[in-house]
Amino acid sequence: MEKSFSFWEQTSFLENFDVLVVGGGLVGLMAAYQTKKQNHRLKVGVLEAGFLPSGASTKNAGFACFGSISEMLDELESTSEDELLEVVELRWQGLRLLREILGDDAIDYLPYGGFEVFKKSDEAFAGKCQEQIGHFNRLLAPITGTADIYAATGPVFITEQGLGDVHSVIQNKLEGQLDTGKMMLNLQRLVQEAGVLLFTNCKVEEIEAGSPHHTVHTNQTKFIARKIILATNAFSKSLFPELNIIPGRGQVLVTSPIPGLKLRGAFHYDRGYYYFRNIGDRILIGGGRNLDFKAEETTDMGLTALVQNRLEDLLYEVVLPGQRPKIEYRWSGIMAFGDELKPLIGEVVPGVYSAIRCNGMGVAMGSQMGKTVAELVLSSL
Ligand SMILES: Cc1cc2nc3c(=O)[nH]c(=O)nc-3n(C[C@H](O)[C@H](O)[C@H](O)COP(=O)(O)OP(=O)(O)OC[C@H]3O[C@@H](n4cnc5c(N)ncnc54)[C@H](O)[C@@H]3O)c2cc1C
Repeated sequence: MEKSFSFWEQTSFLENFDVLVVGGGLVGLMAAYQTKKQNHRLKVGVLEAGFLPSGASTKNAGFACFGSISEMLDELESTSEDELLEVVELRWQGLRLLREILGDDAIDYLPYGGFEVFKKSDEAFAGKCQEQIGHFNRLLAPITGTADIYAATGPVFITEQGLGDVHSVIQNKLEGQLDTGKMMLNLQRLVQEAGVLLFTNCKVEEIEAGSPHHTVHTNQTKFIARKIILATNAFSKSLFPELNIIPGRGQVLVTSPIPGLKLRGAFHYDRGYYYFRNIGDRILIGGGRNLDFKAEETTDMGLTALVQNRLEDLLYEVVLPGQRPKIEYRWSGIMAFGDELKPLIGEVVPGVYSAIRCNGMGVAMGSQMGKTVAELVLSSL
């Protein structure tokens, strides 16, 4: 039997929305926050399928990064330099906005720097990347306002960090790391304090376009809104199959606390396909999607022995040579990729706007994407 709602519930909770955001990850929450902040009179809601946000925003590695050299060289294989710079700027602006809105204390932001490691077997590749340091410093200086972002570090650094089997390291001095859980928890609080209605366990099944109102059918009931923002990232094709989105699962593990851990910072390896950092005295390590792209092209959460074993090998060989801490957490999350590096921000069908496809770097670009889509929607109201 269909659920019945009171007149009060219907008119106050379910109808008369000016803007409804589908997806309560970082982008959706930021879009809702910016919409409400810029016009307090609007009724704004967020519909989130999970009991907690269930995409990438609560499952990522918490790297506040905007580009390592090998990753950018890889991206230039399929993207023009202008487009790459546009995306790097989006990441940079997004990180600034995130820190400005939530504050560094609330997200435990730590400016330890970003580091790209090259194993001894990658000596030739390391040389190729080091040759590009000057080029990328010049290219990114107008975006960041800093002339010497990247620098090669010496063997002392490798020893200080306790790394094994590493030939060399390139430092990015403007990168940092944050606490993903605190970021999302404090963002949820902020959004609700601003007056946004947040519904969880509320999965959108269909968006029925209409004029002047859209009907949003969910597993709970239907909602009525004037404008919709789609912030469902990797899951967007279930609502709009024509969207150019390719899901990519990322697997992660976290060790038990390691007494005397030396490593501090956010590290990348192999064109960004692997990453590791300290969380206090623990190590988080993730990646390995490139071991089997097809298997990881899924919206299903899950772990595979292939990826988890590779992460452990890297942990024991490079990050913590000679140590075998307990692995206390393992999880996965889903990212959204596509044919282009740029995110999809725009009108999908009349009155429905998307801010999706973060290409695995939504912690960085997500806040700016939320702001941009909010401005687009506000200009249409
Ligand atoms: C393992 C891993 C590590 C990462 N590490 C980093 C990093 O260090 N730095 C970085 O910049 N980026 C990182 N990312 C990427 C980053 O987390 C994402 O790009 C970003 O969180 C995307 O935010 P979003 O809000 O667009 O999407 P999501 O967080 O995926 O949010 C989408 C939300 O929509 C909800 N949803 C889906 N379908 C529906 C529906 N039908 N109805 C209602 N709700 C729905 C989902 O439950 C989800 O909560 C990582 C990602 C992963 C998976």
